[in-house]
Amino acid sequence: MKKVLELKNGNKEYNTFDNKITALSNINIKFDLGKIYLIYGHSGSGKSTLIHTIGLLDKLDSGSLIVCDRKIENLKEQELAYIRMNNIGFIFQSYFLSKEMNAIENVMMPMYINPKIKKIDRLNRAKELLKQVGLEKRMFHYPNQLSGGEQQRVAIARALSNNPTIILADEPTGNLDKNNEKNIIDIFVNLKKLNKCIVIVTHSEELKKYADVIYEMDNGKLKEVKNENK
Ligand code: ADP
Repeated sequence: MKKVLELKNGNKEYNTFDNKITALSNINIKFDLGKIYLIYGHSGSGKSTLIHTIGLLDKLDSGSLIVCDRKIENLKEQELAYIRMNNIGFIFQSYFLSKEMNAIENVMMPMYINPKIKKIDRLNRAKELLKQVGLEKRMFHYPNQLSGGEQQRVAIARALSNNPTIILADEPTGNLDKNNEKNIIDIFVNLKKLNKCIVIVTHSEELKKYADVIYEMDNGKLKEVKNENK
């Protein structure tokens, strides 16, 4: 793969009834495989907008975006959904698990729409992913029977279900204590070893120790900051 994830001259504004808000202002950023990228910035600086637009959940006003060697401009919603399903795994601060499904059913969910994964393989694949995040003893638990850290690990296993190249995480440890945060960080470090491209919006100081590249967003603008660990 030549270009994993690349945005050039990315812009986005929100129009509210009384003014315009510039959420992304001429963003240029490139992400590669086998690296952990962190994006810091105060609330309202545009971090979620960046994650949502590069993750094809939301549209840019202008700019050129490439996801896994595919140019994104002018694609129809169905094509975007297909690229998203195959290449991108999302992790959110509040997990977004289905409360009516147990851990293994939550992890299997995204596989139902993926023709590349055979029906017969779904269950074993979900078991394998839950093992990978240390939840082999919690496979049949429902979200309300799991701790916050465990729920986030189920959400990570679910994000990995279609074997994405890119993992986009929006404050993945925001609701967790130090121990659980470390568990999640260990999973990200393992994913890096598996050559995934990992982009994390965060406030976590602990995560900084494991980052390859650190960016800061301010008022819709992005700048790379010095990484003390490199
Ligand atoms: P962050 O993730 O850094 O908190 P966001 O990307 O959520 O920042 O928001 C960037 C700016 O865009 C903020 O000023 C926010 O209020 C505004 N914004 C975000 N989403 C919308 C929306 N759907 N409609 C209007 N304004 C929005």
